[in-house]
Amino acid sequence: MKRLAILGSTGSIGVSALEIISAYPERFKVVALTAGRNFDLLEEQIRLFRPEVVAVQEETAAGLLRESLGKSAPEILCGTTGLIACAAESSAEMVVSAIVGAAGLEPTLAAIEAGKDVALANKETLVAAGSIVMSAVEKNGCRLFPVDSEHSAIFQSLEGHRKHDVRRLILTASGGPFRDCPAEDLLNVSPEDALAHPNWSMGRKITIDSATMMNKGLEVIEAHWLFDLPADKIDVHIHPESIVHSMVEYVDGAVIAQLGIPDMKTPIAYALSYPERLPLNLPPLDLCQLGRLHFHEPDPGRFRCLSLAYQALRAAGTAPAVLNAANEIAVEAFLERRIDFLAIADIIENVLSQHRPLPLTDLNQVLAADTWSREAARSVIMARSHGVSK
Ligand code: NAD
Ligand code: MG
Repeated sequence: MKRLAILGSTGSIGVSALEIISAYPERFKVVALTAGRNFDLLEEQIRLFRPEVVAVQEETAAGLLRESLGKSAPEILCGTTGLIACAAESSAEMVVSAIVGAAGLEPTLAAIEAGKDVALANKETLVAAGSIVMSAVEKNGCRLFPVDSEHSAIFQSLEGHRKHDVRRLILTASGGPFRDCPAEDLLNVSPEDALAHPNWSMGRKITIDSATMMNKGLEVIEAHWLFDLPADKIDVHIHPESIVHSMVEYVDGAVIAQLGIPDMKTPIAYALSYPERLPLNLPPLDLCQLGRLHFHEPDPGRFRCLSLAYQALRAAGTAPAVLNAANEIAVEAFLERRIDFLAIADIIENVLSQHRPLPLTDLNQVLAADTWSREAARSVIMARSHGVSK
């Protein structure tokens, strides 16, 4: 019986993970759940999975949950300390890191420092603090299992092979809802247009990141840390069907890929049960019915966020944390209709240009870079809304 903590249990990944877990009650026991603000769903999950400890973002929500659950309430904590307690101090052996954004960093790192294995969906953790996280993994002798479908595909395509035989990684990207949209039309796209992803159903932030292709940029940085390869050995192909989840090219020209229908349950289940494969009730991949698969290079003019992510990875140190935080602020502003779609890349570019990257030393420095970047992004947005160029 594997004891699990699910951070971000009410999100898209959290809910899919719990669906797998409930199909295998003899294998998994949920000991901790955490959520942001989706109080009703969290309460339902608590009644169903009976965790020992729970964390929510705010004390008022914690109080309401305690009241509503009465005598059957588990320990209910709040804020970052609550998240860290669920991740690091619970009896979990594995932590599913599925909070969205940089908020996932501290609890994920705390889990690693407590020696727990992590099923990592929260790519922002590795983007913001890759070197710190990877040295903590090594120091504490735990393992990071990628949940992101591309990284799970690469992880699977690397199994049984020697790392020094790898020539490059090829991450696939659907291209999002605007892959065929003329560049001049992008100025007027709405949050609703950007949230209509053609292949995957995901949380709002990652869906916007897919539309700008910042998601692929964050994944390039994630792949750099997970697989220890430099930026020039990590390429991106647009693959509209999202069937080939990613590939590894070896020095002899062999390319090994992992394929499947686009459903996050496959990579989540593999991370939970590695090295075993759990039977999942998913429709089979029917390549004959599909007939053709397509691949092409991303257009850097249209997908500037992807280029900005490569730029931040090459600048190294605090630059990726700054990229990530500026992106979070810009995406939030776009979703709230305070900026247009194309401004997302402008804002990130502006903030990166103001930043002098420093080599990463510790978590506090990452958090400081994150805070600085959020402030800088907010002031760029404010200046734009007042028509001042900054
Ligand atoms: P989501 O928005 O659906 O869910 C996020 C979860 O985190 C929710 O439970 C929410 O309550 C919680 N949360 C949000 N902000 C929080 C905060 N400040 N403090 C504590 N909890 C907070 O997001 P998602 O789509 O499930 O994505 C989660 C992570 O997984 C992201 O990092 C994303 O990039 C990654 N990921 C998602 C998918 C996908 O298919 N959804 C695929 C690959 C990777
Ligand atoms: Mg992905």
